[in-house]
Amino acid sequence: MTALEPRPAELFVGTPSFGPDTDPQDVIAWALRTHPDVTMPSAFNLNGVVLLDLAVRAGYRGEVVFVDTGYHFPETLATRDRLAARYPELTFVTLNAGASPDDGQTPDTLYAADPDACCAVRKVAPLQRHLRDTNPSALLNARSRDQSSTRAEIPFVEDGGARRKINPLAFWTREMLEAYAAEHDLPVNPLYFDGFLSIGCWPCTRAVRPGEDARAGRWAGKGKTECGLWQGDGQL
Ligand code: SF4
Repeated sequence: MTALEPRPAELFVGTPSFGPDTDPQDVIAWALRTHPDVTMPSAFNLNGVVLLDLAVRAGYRGEVVFVDTGYHFPETLATRDRLAARYPELTFVTLNAGASPDDGQTPDTLYAADPDACCAVRKVAPLQRHLRDTNPSALLNARSRDQSSTRAEIPFVEDGGARRKINPLAFWTREMLEAYAAEHDLPVNPLYFDGFLSIGCWPCTRAVRPGEDARAGRWAGKGKTECGLWQGDGQL
């Protein structure tokens, strides 16, 4: 396995001597030492499932926080349940639990008319509220550089905003993630194997076509690439 393109050493200032070939478990171990209150939001995509397993092996015993937007695929909710059964040492928290498209949180078709507004209400706001209440100093996040061109510069550690973001998988490729998941028999969302390489809400996710980025099926044709958790004014 080889990692993605190396980054200049000066971009890792302020963190240990991490480099593109640093083992994600070393990054997680550093995160646990440096931020004992670190927490992990997850939507249980391939990256998230791999990160979760690596984190448990490194000693993480905190929360795994999932936001129920009301528009998740049943397969995603089932994946969450399989993970919760597999990792009883973790605390799985579902925010906005039981949400549904017709619960009045947003107008029926807001996801089509204004997906930024829909994500802000159904996804970003519940997580922001939870983080305000629990106030962790850092978040473990599963983003990686080869997911999309907009994530091509993600470092292991991001400062700025309310809390530090630590991205142990920043340099792992999709092939490395798939190999890890297969080797450890991880419960990957079955939609992944139907071409849904990145899975969000069903109105805003399609299968990826050959040659497209892993995230090309998210908000396709809507001029939107991120839900707002990791970029923009409302980022975590
Ligand atoms: Fe709404 Fe789509 Fe965002 Fe889900 S991904 S919260 S349905 S706009």
